Amino acid sequence: MSIQLQNVTFVYPGTRVGVFGLDLSIDDGELLAVIGASGSGKTTLLKLIAGFEVPQSGRIVLDGQDVTGLPVRDRQLGVVFQSYALFPHMTAWQNVAYPLKIRRVEAPERHRRAVDALARVGLKGMEERRPQTLSGGQQQRVALARALVFQPKALLLDEPLSALDAGLRGEMRDEIRRLQREFGISTVHITHDQEEALSMADRVAVMEAGRVIQLASPRELYDSPATRSVAGFVGEANLWEGVVDAPNAVSVPFGVLLTTAHGLGKGQAVTVLVRPENIMVGIADGIPNRFAGTIVRDRFLGAVRRYDLAVGGLVIRGQTGIRDPIETVSIRPEHIRLLPSAS
Ligand code: ADP
Repeated sequence: MSIQLQNVTFVYPGTRVGVFGLDLSIDDGELLAVIGASGSGKTTLLKLIAGFEVPQSGRIVLDGQDVTGLPVRDRQLGVVFQSYALFPHMTAWQNVAYPLKIRRVEAPERHRRAVDALARVGLKGMEERRPQTLSGGQQQRVALARALVFQPKALLLDEPLSALDAGLRGEMRDEIRRLQREFGISTVHITHDQEEALSMADRVAVMEAGRVIQLASPRELYDSPATRSVAGFVGEANLWEGVVDAPNAVSVPFGVLLTTAHGLGKGQAVTVLVRPENIMVGIADGIPNRFAGTIVRDRFLGAVRRYDLAVGGLVIRGQTGIRDPIETVSIRPEHIRLLPSAS
């Protein structure tokens, strides 16, 4: 099912916060991750799609049907929140069967479908267990099975993995992706974990102050962030204020960087983005942008080493597998991105 938000504005009564003029289209079978700082409007977006809040203007369209005024239940969406909110007095299968019960599905059919849904999330044999006897990851799977059991038209996930430890989170990430593909179900997945967003999503929406400031594939978002704040939010970043010097050069506080042809006018203020993994250690033939400095921070993290090289009053943050002492770094022109200036 496709999900569309057309110029949707919703402001919490008595406040100035909410979401403003959202235009968003989620394709059938697509997984859209929504990221952004706390308070940027991610949960509000989800509540509007689900029908827990009604926009003051704009339309919400599911599979071509305007559902803006429809109550939650009639939208047929599976929702999983941060707290799984399982019923403690019910067994796993009873929890999963609950949405079928309120939809008046007959008892034997309810049981059959709940058992089947539990098997699909890897909980075969756990049907009679109560939530408190299950691990966090297993409870999360029950919540997922409950959201999927009535064959919803789309899945809305609000930080469903945030309560899990890192290892389990990775495992559940893959599990959600697998189920989402298997069911071919359009999914909106809110997360504060940018790695989770990049690794799971077909596309990522970045929210800021109630607006979507970029909507792009994970790769595009990482390689070509629209703004300085997106660049800083997604992955590690060197962000330097600079001024265009020539058609293929910008000056930054520690020198001049040769770039690829950028088409910007001389004197224009820009923000320069270079990802730490694109800072090369040492010098190499044909690579300009060589800078010598002093290591002021050096962290060995196993597979990678992260370091800060102080150069002309600024710090170049790098990431490398090289273990030798570092005195000089080089930056290839094609690894330099120019973004609109912060000011
Ligand atoms: P996020 O999910 O990105 O953390 P939310 O969508 O929950 O952000 O909140 C967006 C903004 O709306 C925040 O400023 C938040 O404080 C405010 N907000 C959320 N819920 C309510 C509410 N029920 N009443 C008033 N303001 C709210």
